[in-house]
Amino acid sequence: KNLINRMRGVERDVIDKPGQDGSQGGAPFYKPQADEVEIFQAAYAKRLPVMLKGPTGCGKTRFLEHVAHTLGQPLVTVSCHEDLTSSDLVGRFLLEGEETVWQDGPLTRSVKEGAICYLDEIVEARTDTTVVIHPLTDHRRQLPLDKKSQIIDAHEDFMLVISYNPGYQTVLKDLKPSTKQRFVGIHFDYPSEEVEREIVAKESGGLDADRVEKLVAAGRKARALKDHGLEEATSTRALAYAGELMQAGLSPRVACRAAMIAPITDDPELIQALEEIFDAHF
Ligand code: ADP
Repeated sequence: KNLINRMRGVERDVIDKPGQDGSQGGAPFYKPQADEVEIFQAAYAKRLPVMLKGPTGCGKTRFLEHVAHTLGQPLVTVSCHEDLTSSDLVGRFLLEGEETVWQDGPLTRSVKEGAICYLDEIVEARTDTTVVIHPLTDHRRQLPLDKKSQIIDAHEDFMLVISYNPGYQTVLKDLKPSTKQRFVGIHFDYPSEEVEREIVAKESGGLDADRVEKLVAAGRKARALKDHGLEEATSTRALAYAGELMQAGLSPRVACRAAMIAPITDDPELIQALEEIFDAHF
């Protein structure tokens, strides 16, 4: 049983049925940055596979949750990681008592049921995963289940979405150009200052305008340190967290350190540089 459960550790996917969330007519709150919603809707109308490109924490996942909800489509999210294999996506035979039973993976279920399947950070996964998505990304829209010697045609509502963080990729780990070409690309970046303020105000649960303004201004300065040795830039997510911590009663100083410094660096010089930025704003 343990073994089965361990193998079922595959079930990292989250099935998000439409109609579960609170804001924006039930859709998860998303503030558009440019024309990403229109591009996605057009791609969905034609069932073209989509690639969301951009740095971590800039809103790609939230965007997809939002558009899936407005389209009334279920969303299956798989967070990819270096041990993720094609079997984790497609499915495998499991031993149940005396019997072996086939269990569909999250990709197969999406293909059959007509969901939007989101492979978050696909490049992290083993290369065999990109092989299984290939026939799904062209006009065939088919998923081969090699172990079952079966090929399934995708449900007409099925759509494949991947995310891709150009900053992370190295020459060793990148999508093949032939794979990239099969996707419609939507570019994301950290939002403009004005949009970011709106996001932080909303996500923090109503932090006052004065602190929102200072927080966002400081965050944007901190973000600029990315080119000076900081591996991970201060994300919109981190700003939202800092806002939430302030709303929960922490001082700006403590909240900024906890949400925007501690998680991203251990380097004493960078810590000091970041502290100076935040202290100058509050
Ligand atoms: P990514 O998938 O790019 O790593 P997320 O979608 O998880 O980033 O975004 C992280 C958090 O930042 C969200 O949970 C949300 O609080 C906030 N956020 C970022 N951009 C937006 C946006 N445009 N609208 C609403 N919230 C946003």
